[in-house]
Amino acid sequence: MKVSVDLDQCEANGICVGIAPDVFELDDEDVLHIVEAEVAPDRLADVETAVSQCPKAALKLQ
Ligand code: SF4
Repeated sequence: MKVSVDLDQCEANGICVGIAPDVFELDDEDVLHIVEAEVAPDRLADVETAVSQCPKAALKLQ
């Protein structure tokens, strides 16, 4: 499974970073980066939570 972000939708509120800081990161200019696009099986639950909690529906898991 891979996670990606639509930066046109992301409003950099950091909710995903709070849920999975090892996977998502906001830089100094509030741009979201995916640290680990390939989601490890033991991180899948948190990434799924982040995807579902993103208020902008900017994250996609496929
Ligand atoms: S939760 Fe969604 S809107 Fe917020 S930083 Fe993450 S991807 Fe962007």
